[in-house]
Amino acid sequence: MCVNCFGRRRFAQLAFGLAATGLSGVAPARATIRTPETLPLVMLDPGHGGHDPGAIAPDGVYEKHITLATGLTLRTTLLATKRYRVQMTRTHDVFIPLEDRVTAAVQAGADLFLALHCDHLPEPSLRGASFFTLSNTASDDLAAGIADDENGTGVAGAPLAGVSPQVASILASLETRATKVGSATLAQDLKNSFKGVIPLLPDPRRSANFAVLRDPSTPSTLLEMGCLTNPLDEKRLRSPMHRKMMAAKITTAIDMYFAHFAGGRMAG
Ligand SMILES: [Zn+2]
Repeated sequence: MCVNCFGRRRFAQLAFGLAATGLSGVAPARATIRTPETLPLVMLDPGHGGHDPGAIAPDGVYEKHITLATGLTLRTTLLATKRYRVQMTRTHDVFIPLEDRVTAAVQAGADLFLALHCDHLPEPSLRGASFFTLSNTASDDLAAGIADDENGTGVAGAPLAGVSPQVASILASLETRATKVGSATLAQDLKNSFKGVIPLLPDPRRSANFAVLRDPSTPSTLLEMGCLTNPLDEKRLRSPMHRKMMAAKITTAIDMYFAHFAGGRMAG
């Protein structure tokens, strides 16, 4: 998709007041006649890869392998529903710069961006998943440290094109606000879907300045699937059965996310 097409697509969505969050009013409950090309596009971003192993567990397990394995399983699970299109920023063990991951989502016209990571915390007794959205101010010192670990380089969002600078400015502002709502909605849906099934950190809804979440046009959440520094979490993250269950819970969360907009209601 060219930059101009991107701008027009977003403008049309904003004009109808439905998909200011990047959503195109699509929800499973309302899916009537949809061709595969018009299904919502979910961009999965398995963290790290190549020369960047990410966090390393005490016994040497690399985060990059767990994020990729989970991403591939999640892609299969999402595609099996026939409700989504799915693309991935990487499908094998290769290094992708953070800015290229964001660009891939923008160019593909993704409706949702989900980054997959594993925590590496200073306290080994801490365990559980957590859900990050973008904020210039970290929710706590721990969140700030995690963002520092995950970030490499900063990247600005793609500018809107095909409209006057004044209109572009207004749209960009609306888009940023709507995208924040969408990102927070997905993070909350993930928390609700995981609750009681997958361990959560004591305060799992967090925010920090993650580079891969900085596209102002795509609702984005970064999922820390568990802590590699905790032996119980590490054992679960290494288990294909656990990853399959996690993929099912993420799929449920994504279903919930799109269902929020089925009646034109924007969830907070
Ligand atoms: Zn990571």
